[in-house]
Amino acid sequence: MEGHGDYTLGHISVRDGDHMIMKRNGIGLEEVTDDALLTIDLQGKRVSGEGPMHLEAVLHTAVYRARPDVNAVVHTHPLYSTAFGAVDAKLEMINHDAVLFAEGLAYFDETSELIMTPAQGEAVAAALGNKRAVVMRGHGVLVTGKTLPWVVYTALTLERVLQIQAIAKSLGELRPMSDEMASAVYQDKYRDEFIGNYWNYLIRQVRRAGMAPDGGMAHAGAY
Ligand SMILES: [Zn+2]
Repeated sequence: MEGHGDYTLGHISVRDGDHMIMKRNGIGLEEVTDDALLTIDLQGKRVSGEGPMHLEAVLHTAVYRARPDVNAVVHTHPLYSTAFGAVDAKLEMINHDAVLFAEGLAYFDETSELIMTPAQGEAVAAALGNKRAVVMRGHGVLVTGKTLPWVVYTALTLERVLQIQAIAKSLGELRPMSDEMASAVYQDKYRDEFIGNYWNYLIRQVRRAGMAPDGGMAHAGAY
């Protein structure tokens, strides 16, 4: 609903102890149901769940191994974020959304291939470093979060801010806010309770759109 879908490509995972839970391959983001979830250990071996694993599961496992603070990962190919990765541009502090990325974005430009081997996954995790998100040139983005609501919010916000930047750039020269202003905005805007409100709103929105099966998303508030 927010521009992250790309046929059946793109995926989201959440850490669950020594494992991660991730959707199976072959279905779109909006088609995921409880029985389409795979449990995979952090070396990439399936522990439970039916159906094909995404080739790029190694992206997620490598990030979980490298970043103990990360408990949820999104890898998608949204239009604006992917277009942004195709040019020599910087995310500018042009509105409240942008402030979430005040520390800057990471860039991965070793290859534009699918990330299918543990070594490639580790190279993306190394490029990510301690940032929230890494732009994978010629490919898409990988976004991290400390919780599932945070990673969803961060992924949606990255796409939104780059869309706003693209529109703003077409209107005239960008007028970014100062670093001091960005850090003042951050304190007020990015609190856990607000992210909880946004998460609950997104769940209601999905239900209103009729995109959750009967009884679906019953556990969505548990994170
Ligand atoms: Zn990909």
